[in-house]
Amino acid sequence: MNLEDINAIKKLLSEPQKIVIVPHKNPDGDAVGSTLALWHFLQNKGQQATIISPNDYPKFLKWMPGNEYILNYEKENRQAKRKINEASLIFTLDFNHLGRVGQLEEPLERSSAKFIMIDHHQEPADYADIAYSDVSMSSTCEMVYNFIESLGDTSKITVEIANCLYTGIMTDTGSFEFSSTTSRTHRIVADLIDRGAENAQIHNEVFNTNTPSRLHLLGCALKNLVILQEYKTVYITLSQEELEKNNFKKGDTEGFVNYGLTLDEIVFAVIFIENTEEGIIKISFRSKGSFLVNEFARKHFNGGGHNNAAGGRSNLSLQDTVAHFKSLLENYKKSLNS
Ligand code: 5GP
Ligand code: MN
Repeated sequence: MNLEDINAIKKLLSEPQKIVIVPHKNPDGDAVGSTLALWHFLQNKGQQATIISPNDYPKFLKWMPGNEYILNYEKENRQAKRKINEASLIFTLDFNHLGRVGQLEEPLERSSAKFIMIDHHQEPADYADIAYSDVSMSSTCEMVYNFIESLGDTSKITVEIANCLYTGIMTDTGSFEFSSTTSRTHRIVADLIDRGAENAQIHNEVFNTNTPSRLHLLGCALKNLVILQEYKTVYITLSQEELEKNNFKKGDTEGFVNYGLTLDEIVFAVIFIENTEEGIIKISFRSKGSFLVNEFARKHFNGGGHNNAAGGRSNLSLQDTVAHFKSLLENYKKSLNS
C-alpha cells in the first residue's frame, strides 16, 4: 500500500464509520479468515463493523472466533441490506470484481459508501476508492497483516486476529506448499504464532474434522480419476447422483482436485462437479509450474483465478463438459509438456 492510501485510511478510521466487510461467494478459509480478522481489528479500534457473506460456507470454518456474528445474505437478507444501506465504508476482501459476490452485487453497486479492496487476484476491477491489490501475495490474510502493520497497529493483533489470519494463510498456501509462500509469509506466520495463533489446533479444526461420508465421497472421486498422460493432465468427475449417494454437504469436495497433482509427472488437474440445482457444472483447475490455469478458465469456462488455482463453470451436461474439455487439450499439448 502506498503512503497516500495509508494516510487516507488512517483519516477515515480516525472518525466513527459504519463499516461493512464482504468476502466472495462460497467463501473459503482465506475469505472467512481475512474478513473476521479485519472485523476484530476494526471493532477493537472502536468502529462499528458487520461482515456480510453472500452465502453459507463449510462447517470446518465455523469454529473461527466471531463466526456467529457473520450475516448470511441469503438467510438474513433484510438485516444485511439495511447494514449496506447505512454503510459509510465497505471493505471487499479476497475477490477482484463485484460479480464474485452473487446476489450481493446489486446492493453493493447501489451503495454510496467508500470502497476499500484488499485482494490478491489478477485483473482487479476498478470499483474501489482505495485498492490494495497485489497478485504476488499468498493470501488476503497476509495482506490484512500488512494492512494492520501499515497503520502501525501490529501491537493490536490479538489471539483472535492471529488465529483468523493464520487460518487463511494456511489454507490459501496449501499448508505453506504453494510457490506463493515466501520467507515473508513464514515470518508473518511466525509472528502470528508469537501472538498466540494456535497453529496445531487450527490444522486440526480445518483438516481433521472429516465425516465418514466425505471420505467415502473422496473414495468415489479418486475412483473416477482419469489420467491423460500425453497431456500430463488428470481429471475427476462427480455427478449429482454420486454426491447425493455420499450425503454431500457444502465444502465436502474442497481439496479433492489437489489429489490429481500428487501424481508424478502430472501438471494439470481438474475436477468437474455437477450441480443440478444451479444447472451448472462447477469446475476447479489446478496446476504445477508454468501452465496458467486462470487463462484457461477465463478463455474456455467463464472463470478465472490465480496462475495455479482457478475455477469456472459450464452450462453443458457433465458428459458434454468433459468431452469439450478433452477436445481443448490438443491445443495446449506444447505448454503442458514444456
Ligand atoms: P476453487 O477451484 O477453489 O473454487 O477456486 C480456485 C480459485 O479460483 C480461487 O482463488 C477463486 O477465487 C477462483 N475462482 C473460482 N471460481 C471462479 C470463477 O468462476 N471466476 C473467477 N474469476 N474466479 C474463480
Ligand atoms: Mn485468497
